[in-house]
Amino acid sequence: MKKRCFILIVRFSGISKEIALSLSEKLEDLFLIPVKLGDVLPLPVDTFDSVRGQYRAIGLLQKVCTLRSRSDMIVLGITEKDIYEERLNFVFGLASAAHRCALISTARLSNSFYDMDDDENLFFRRTVTEAVHEIGHTLGLDHCKDPHCVMHFSNSLADTDLKGYRFCAKCQLEVEAALSSCR
Ligand SMILES: [Zn+2]
Ligand SMILES: [Zn+2]
Repeated sequence: MKKRCFILIVRFSGISKEIALSLSEKLEDLFLIPVKLGDVLPLPVDTFDSVRGQYRAIGLLQKVCTLRSRSDMIVLGITEKDIYEERLNFVFGLASAAHRCALISTARLSNSFYDMDDDENLFFRRTVTEAVHEIGHTLGLDHCKDPHCVMHFSNSLADTDLKGYRFCAKCQLEVEAALSSCR
């Protein structure tokens, strides 16, 4: 019998329960699968790079991935810390399709990071967009050429704001196929 996937959201310390709750409701609406909230995770200090002043994304992702205890589970971690990968100045998030786990950072999603007035609605929309994008990767989706599709690659917040959190028709079909294959 086919079983539906579900998403577990885990927040690293610093992320409020309110934002995690709002995100979980939005993800339930968008993916039409259950979303649960996990415990708060302490930040692994060994993933901090004191020279760069950023956290190693892969180190945090690995921590998130260890929480995946069932094959019908997708785990999404959220941190407010700025994260990077080798050869990149920063990343908004990253994901493992093989292990169906992902991580997003909200550090660069607020206007104040760019010395502009904060906008809570915009901040939340960007958080949803990055979360949906990385969950898309956990389901095996690659980047999409459509600049209005959530699976389009974001190099900047302008890209994120342009694409929004919806899948294009082609990607939506891929998502539905992947979600129906949970065991
Ligand atoms: Zn991507
Ligand atoms: Zn697409």
